[in-house]
Amino acid sequence: MTELSTMILDRIRDVPDYPKPGVVFKDITPLLADPVAMAAVVEELAGTHQADKIVGIEARGFILAAPVAYRAGAGFVPVRKKGKLPAATLEESYDLEYGSATIEVHRDAFVPGERVLIVDDVLATGGTAKAAVELVERAGGEVAGIAVLMELAFLQGRERLAGVDVRSLVTV
Ligand code: AMP
Repeated sequence: MTELSTMILDRIRDVPDYPKPGVVFKDITPLLADPVAMAAVVEELAGTHQADKIVGIEARGFILAAPVAYRAGAGFVPVRKKGKLPAATLEESYDLEYGSATIEVHRDAFVPGERVLIVDDVLATGGTAKAAVELVERAGGEVAGIAVLMELAFLQGRERLAGVDVRSLVTV
C-alpha cells in the first residue's frame, strides 16, 4: 500500500447505519480537516486526467473538485441536485445506494468538445457518476474521466461506467 493510500484510509471514518440501517457511511471530514493529507489528495486527483473543466457533484464532490480545478488550471462546473441551479439546465435521474435523486447541470456549462473530469468523494453503485457522464455529454462536453477519492468495489459501480476511464485513489 502506498503512503498516500494509508494517509487517506487513516482519515476516512466508517459510520455504520448512516443515513439508514445497513449502510456504512464513509465520512471524509477527518481527511478534509488535515491540510497535509488534503493537499496530497488534491495534487493526485488533479494529475489523473488532462481537462479543461472539472465537474464537482453536490455536495462533497464540490469540496474536492474546486481545489482540483484550481490546481489543474481548469474551470469548475457544479452538478447540483434538482432545483438549485438558477439558469436553464439539463437533468438526469438515477438510483443511489440509499434512495434515488435527480441532478442537473447548466445547459451552457461547457464549450462543445471541452475535456471534462468528473470528481466525487465516493464511487458506490456508480449511478451518480453515470448520470453525471450523461449530463456532461448532453451538454456538449467530452468526458476525459472520473476521479474519486474512494471506490466501494463490492458495489461494482465501475461496471456501469464501461468506456469511461475511472480512477480511484483508494479501493475498499
Ligand atoms: P452511487 O451513485 O451509488 O455511486 O453513490 C455515490 C454518491 O453517493 C456519492 O456522491 C457519494 O458521496 C454518496 N455515497 C454513496 N454511498 C456512500 C457511502 N457509503 N459513504 C459515503 N458517501 C456515499
